[in-house]
Amino acid sequence: MYNYGKCEICNTLLEEKNIQQDFWIKGKLVVIENLPAGVCPQCGEKVVNGEVGEHIDRLLKDSNRINKAPTISVPFIKYEIESMAV
Ligand SMILES: [Zn+2]
Repeated sequence: MYNYGKCEICNTLLEEKNIQQDFWIKGKLVVIENLPAGVCPQCGEKVVNGEVGEHIDRLLKDSNRINKAPTISVPFIKYEIESMAV
């Protein structure tokens, strides 16, 4: 297990978790699942270690893999104050 140390924001000990993180790559939203990261139980800050960071870089540059990956649809809404009024 990797020791992520403490959260830079609130100084709480980070917990190792497998998370789901989204990245915008050339206007495309890509989600990486099962990503090992240190997560702050206090404020939700997430950090990844150097090795994982490099692997993420490689994954996100692998356009072949991205093109073949299963896709999900996500809600796409406009920020409109008027529509918030009920
Ligand atoms: Zn924190």
